[in-house]
Amino acid sequence: MVKPKEIESFDELRKFRLADEGYFVITDTTRHAIIHKVNATCIKADSFNLKVTINGRKQGSYFWVDSIATAAREFGAVRCKVCKPELSLVHPSTFET
Ligand SMILES: [Zn+2]
Repeated sequence: MVKPKEIESFDELRKFRLADEGYFVITDTTRHAIIHKVNATCIKADSFNLKVTINGRKQGSYFWVDSIATAAREFGAVRCKVCKPELSLVHPSTFET
């Protein structure tokens, strides 16, 4: 397992999206943490800026995780109903020989 990585800038967020591996977990002080696909359309620059830059991560934050299992264990996170990350449980590298 790789440790979750807190995302501190939009540039970091962009790099994770380009790498197209793992998942994002968005935490929130008022509700459950939610797991999203790394390239989901529900990951929005405006929301990221509000939470991380403007609110200074006081009401929640963005994390990158290597797997859904990590997200569940570390954050008690639930899967996003919009991008449905459970559909990509099998990592592409599983198919490499
Ligand atoms: Zn989502």
